[in-house]
Amino acid sequence: MSDRTAFRACIGTILVFVASLLATAASAEVTYIHAGRLLADPASGRVLNEQTIVVRDGRIAELRDGYVDGAGQVVDLRGEFVLPGLIDSHVHLCHENGPNDRMNRVTMTAADWAVQGVRFAEITLRAGFTTVANLGDENDAIFALRDGIERGDVPGPRIVAAGHVLSPHGGDGDIHGYRPDVATTIRRGNLCTGADDCSRLVRNHIGRGADIIKIVATGSVLADIAQGVGQQFTDAELRAIVETAHGMGRRVTAHAHSTAGVNAALRAGVDSIEHGTFLDAESIELFKANGAYLVPTLLAGATVSAWANDPKGFLSPPAKAKALEVGPKMLGMGRRAHAGGVKIAFGTDASVARHGTNAREFSLLVQAGMTPLQAIRAATIGSADHLGLSKEIGSLAPGKAADIVAVCGDPLKSVSGLEHVRFVMKGGVVYTKKPRCQ
Ligand SMILES: [Zn+2]
Repeated sequence: MSDRTAFRACIGTILVFVASLLATAASAEVTYIHAGRLLADPASGRVLNEQTIVVRDGRIAELRDGYVDGAGQVVDLRGEFVLPGLIDSHVHLCHENGPNDRMNRVTMTAADWAVQGVRFAEITLRAGFTTVANLGDENDAIFALRDGIERGDVPGPRIVAAGHVLSPHGGDGDIHGYRPDVATTIRRGNLCTGADDCSRLVRNHIGRGADIIKIVATGSVLADIAQGVGQQFTDAELRAIVETAHGMGRRVTAHAHSTAGVNAALRAGVDSIEHGTFLDAESIELFKANGAYLVPTLLAGATVSAWANDPKGFLSPPAKAKALEVGPKMLGMGRRAHAGGVKIAFGTDASVARHGTNAREFSLLVQAGMTPLQAIRAATIGSADHLGLSKEIGSLAPGKAADIVAVCGDPLKSVSGLEHVRFVMKGGVVYTKKPRCQ
């Protein structure tokens, strides 16, 4: 064999070897999920039996009738009910409310909050929530958590992060209940007064990494100050925030309880309202005219009501008074909004209720008059649309992210079954797989 022939043979061997390596790598990325029952498209509500979801490189490649396999991994969910990964549009992953809230603010560093967030992110993912919107935390730890999850450094849901909530000076998102010099030290750079100042703050937040702008348009239950739950930002400030955020490609969601606060935020053009406790007939018309979403957070209402009624509860006197005013009214609010035709996105305000119990919201939505399918739509296609992620998540279709969960039983009959998720895949990676349903 001449040198040249030997060289060619050698190159040929190498090419065959590289090609076989590439083929192995490609096939290793393929997963065939055998789904006993499959709700791929919550919009139609159609449930198909004995389906195969082909997942390639983290995305759904095809949906096929029957159980199909090939070169790659097979996931057996023949006994399960399979649906798109769930979306919680209102969480706070870096903390969980409790008796130590006030002390934690002065003792915990951003690193402490981030490490705590790693734990709660994993708990949330394993509960079936493959995407969340994180609407306010103590500092910028959430951006590090979001980016770390995106890189695959730690397990957790895809995060749409707001960073700090934006608040008027002295308003709900300010620091209350501390000595003034301590409050000055731990204040978070999230306050504004006047339209120009609020525009500046929105730009600053987007520069820090905010994917969405969360404002507190009214007082809240858990702030340690007796200033009620009325409108806090002025109309001019609200308009400036919305205009600035929209100009920079960000949605605005407003925490709002009082009727005046809800309606002022909607008139200013916010994209969604969180809580909405005292919304009225005019609010419902404004929601529909704007195409705005309501995120009712019924689980937070149920949780603060339970705390306020607990004689050993940890709420401060002003927080307790507001919890008793707001908590019991939230279910009725959900009922009014749904009956009035308001678009509803699923959100729990987890950190009030324990992280990982997010799916308890489904039963509350059903108590508020939704069918189980409507509640599932809120947590899939509804929240995906609300967060501007419809091309990526919310249903299982070729090209979308392979975010897939499974439960035993039929959640369209008993929606509480979603509280016990058996299988979680996010971006094609399996995070939880429990033994087959009996
Ligand atoms: Zn919240």
